[in-house]
Amino acid sequence: VEQYLSRIDEYRHLNVFTEVYADEARHRADAVDQKLATGVAGKLAGMVIGIKDVLSYAGHGLRAGSHILDGFTAQFTATAVQRLLDEDAIIIGRQNCDEFAMGSSNENSAFGPVRNAADPDRVPGGSSGGSAVAVQAGLCLASIGSDTGGSVRQPAAFCGVVGLKPTYGRISRWGLIAYASSFDCIGPITNTPDDAALLLEIMAGADEFDSTVSSRPVDTYSQTQLPDRPLRIAYLREGVESDGVDKSIRTATQRTIDQLRADGHEVEPVDFSLLNYLLPTYYILTTAEASSNLSRFDGVRYGYRAVTSVSDLVSLYKKSRTEGFGPEVRRRILLGTFALSASYYDAYYTKAQQVRRLIRQETERVFSEYDFLISPTTPTPAFRLGEKADDPLQMYLADIFTVQANVVGYPAISVPNGTDAAGLPIGLQIMAPPFAEGALVAFARRLA
Ligand code: GLN
Repeated sequence: VEQYLSRIDEYRHLNVFTEVYADEARHRADAVDQKLATGVAGKLAGMVIGIKDVLSYAGHGLRAGSHILDGFTAQFTATAVQRLLDEDAIIIGRQNCDEFAMGSSNENSAFGPVRNAADPDRVPGGSSGGSAVAVQAGLCLASIGSDTGGSVRQPAAFCGVVGLKPTYGRISRWGLIAYASSFDCIGPITNTPDDAALLLEIMAGADEFDSTVSSRPVDTYSQTQLPDRPLRIAYLREGVESDGVDKSIRTATQRTIDQLRADGHEVEPVDFSLLNYLLPTYYILTTAEASSNLSRFDGVRYGYRAVTSVSDLVSLYKKSRTEGFGPEVRRRILLGTFALSASYYDAYYTKAQQVRRLIRQETERVFSEYDFLISPTTPTPAFRLGEKADDPLQMYLADIFTVQANVVGYPAISVPNGTDAAGLPIGLQIMAPPFAEGALVAFARRLA
């Protein structure tokens, strides 16, 4: 704990933590030491973990990268966080992120951008940017982020660490601030697939507080092995052929494909005909869900409340929300409200739901023939701070390979796959069928 605290101090300029729980972490470390001395410590004894600032931890501040939660203290602890604590993990602090987990660069935080430790002029990715840099720079051993369209995997790829998004419903979201409820997943960011597997194992499973969580038994993911036969692996043709993908990333992905073939696996290209519909479907549905989820932040129930030039209840709501939310969150609330409005609902929301079903069907077809689908995690390595900040559509393209797993609810992991000529990390994404996290991490372990 002391070592991490001094590193956190040393790397303050990366703007990773929004709050550090120094004394509390020291106390817990002492308590864990005592338990270890008597031989009854939990499975995570000694693991120092940071949590993205969208996860409730009772008695601690909670901001979601937003001013609208100014002064707010969490009233209860997220199930996922509680399960870590029950196994004697030490929570060292909460981590900076894009406001309400909306973003791909961590530039949308009310607390300023996070910087990539590989090059502080570059973004760490988002929205769990603080969580990824914390592991990259050794400010904690593991982080817990959230992934609605790539927010665990994309920053993991930009920072050269491992990011796992489980199957939708595998980990309870009780205590996770909702962005888009039919997409949101909690996931670990770690140095190795094994640590991700262990954390998943501990956080996953039935929970009476989340009606969408699966009650399927939880495997011992950290022990699972691959089947003793050649694997059938599909890769996304665009990932190695499209001009929209950075050359260094295409080359790195091709190298992995060649290696897998040399190891005796069957590796074949697939064309995903709905690729161009992934982002529109994702952004229509997630903004619609966000506009509903974020209506609770009204200036009355939580955090920030406008007091000047407020004349009635409606102006209180309007002013609090206008002043409390940042520009990207306001943009998405407006987009989502538009997509759900009476005269456009069928044209946008219903249509996007229909396309979501088609995407699910096409994905199921791929997995009826293959064990895994691989692709680059991102089309480019980490870009410069400010480079895409004025162009939301360019920014949304950073998610082209990651959103599919959330649209269909499948698990996916990003593992480091070398660096480009400038030393910037490259990520490889592996997707598996629902609840096949065991095989997924076993495969990731082999590639890592
Ligand atoms: N970058 C994507 C978005 O802005 C994904 C965010 C996320 O997974 N929370 O919606």
